[in-house]
Amino acid sequence: MADLPGIVIMGVSGRMGQMLTHTVLESGKARLVGCVERPGHPWVGQDVRAAMGGVPVGVTVTDEPIDAIAQAQAVIDFSTPAASVGIARLAAQARAVHVIGTTGFSPEDLEQIRLAARHAIVVRAGNMSLGVNLLVQLTRRVAAALDADFDIEVIEAHHRHKVDAPSGTALMLGQAAAEGRGVALDEVSERGRDGLTGARARGAIGFSAIRGGDIVGEHDVVFAGEGERIVLRHVATDRAVFARGALKAALWGQDKKPGEYDMLDVLGL
Ligand code: NAD
Repeated sequence: MADLPGIVIMGVSGRMGQMLTHTVLESGKARLVGCVERPGHPWVGQDVRAAMGGVPVGVTVTDEPIDAIAQAQAVIDFSTPAASVGIARLAAQARAVHVIGTTGFSPEDLEQIRLAARHAIVVRAGNMSLGVNLLVQLTRRVAAALDADFDIEVIEAHHRHKVDAPSGTALMLGQAAAEGRGVALDEVSERGRDGLTGARARGAIGFSAIRGGDIVGEHDVVFAGEGERIVLRHVATDRAVFARGALKAALWGQDKKPGEYDMLDVLGL
């Protein structure tokens, strides 16, 4: 047991943090050595499982990530952009693999993470599920096979609490479509348009988002031509798919060289 990699979970009381706690504790492949929440959160100082209403497991939630990360081989982090950028530096100093599921980063945030990855193993993906990463590959292939007259629309749906839009996954899909077509996403994207009104430039890549209820995550990539269209769809019904992917990434990263990786690397796609 002591040989298993020690994992710290950031943002442990969150939707993903709680799912990750179950996944790590029940995996038999890793040890839960630390749980971090923001200062002032009511879970700080409590046993993590007890805070979730279960049997204590001897891991106390802390708001001091340095001490927790010092004894860990990996940090799994689904929190906020500001928290993840701060943790990237600490994980790099501790030589712990940093698995980043957080989305909504600014270009400046991404530069900070890139700098941390010069000295550390960072696995960052806007979606950690096998199915979405396959969808990314399929999107790239379909975009490459179709001529540039096909318009590409990425449509996503999430629960009402999600703060960023379009989702990190939608942006990954748009990026894959642009790569397949051999163009830069910034040149062809119609980001921010609501998708309901107004015209698109021919061949544009557009994004639309809806928010509501408890939708875990749904993504369609629509390739719309004259007289026909293709729709690729992924529907996540259980957050466990993201948590299992994140744990897989933490274990995969243990023997890798410093650098920034994504789930396509982890899954060998
Ligand atoms: P959430 O709001 O339920 O959880 C975020 C948690 O982070 C909260 O408990 C919050 O208190 C905590 N937090 C904030 N600041 C912190 C700090 N400084 N230190 C420690 N903890 C801190 O959100 P969620 O639904 O769990 O999603 C979290 C992130 O993960 C979002 O960016 C979301 O888009 C992303 N996400 C990614 C994937 C993926 O597969 N990559 C899947 C689902 C969600």
